[in-house]
Amino acid sequence: MTTTVLTLARETIQALYQKYQSFPTTTPPHTHYQLKLPTLTLTAYLSGKVVLQGSHIDSFLQENQLNAPATTASSLTLPQNFSTWSVAGSDESGNGSYFGPLTVASAYVSQEQIETLQQLGIQDSKKLSDQRIQELVAILKHQIPYHVLVLWPLKYNQVHQYKNLNEMKALMHNQALNLLQKKIAPIIPDGILIDEFCKPSTYDRYLAGQPILNREKIYFSTKAESKHLAVAAASMIARDAFINGLAQLSQEIGYELPSGAGASVDILAAKILKREGRQSLETVAKMHFKNTQKLTHY
Ligand code: MG
Repeated sequence: MTTTVLTLARETIQALYQKYQSFPTTTPPHTHYQLKLPTLTLTAYLSGKVVLQGSHIDSFLQENQLNAPATTASSLTLPQNFSTWSVAGSDESGNGSYFGPLTVASAYVSQEQIETLQQLGIQDSKKLSDQRIQELVAILKHQIPYHVLVLWPLKYNQVHQYKNLNEMKALMHNQALNLLQKKIAPIIPDGILIDEFCKPSTYDRYLAGQPILNREKIYFSTKAESKHLAVAAASMIARDAFINGLAQLSQEIGYELPSGAGASVDILAAKILKREGRQSLETVAKMHFKNTQKLTHY
């Protein structure tokens, strides 16, 4: 038995009651009603919270066109057999690293390629060493269409002054997916899967006024790398671009820049700030990270 909690508008709560009122109904305290449906119990609270308890909750949500909460939405809304579809996927890398660019990659994996890529060892980049990622991506890039975007720290810092990180990601995911779809045209993917970093409604709001190709085919999912190889491939390509970007910046500035945001990062950032100045640091680091504030303590 699983439990899902939604917040619904009053009209939706009323409409559900209209539809299901032939089933056993009670009115526990603080509720509009409680319905006992064949596979689940629906409790509609006066607060607007609706609690679903039982089984087949995902089909109930789909049937009534209800959005599941963000934490569980993803897997619930992905159609069955989605992992066997021909899919365009996207993922990002570098957003947790003080040094280096933010990268977003999109990749298209057709149904026919899934098995081959599986055998090749394509999987969630977090499960692979950087070296293995680079070896595999070198092969992968000859096998599938992809597009990769690199937002270098200097530009990143400028844009971040008027856009938050999720907004920047939304723009990059959208651009990477649009350009990928132009590359593979006239093929249209069965589905488009984005590794979820914000609510789908927020994604649309960030992209207001921008073209979003095949919006109706887009699915959002947490842990999307494990739900379709296209996102796994995109995660590897994005990571590869991040590693290369970090290496390039290291060479330019003359310091071996580590990834991440830990203590070794703070020490090196302080050194760069002291020896090269803030302007140099801005070319290699994401300045809004807390690491920057900590530098005054060194
Ligand atoms: Mg991700």
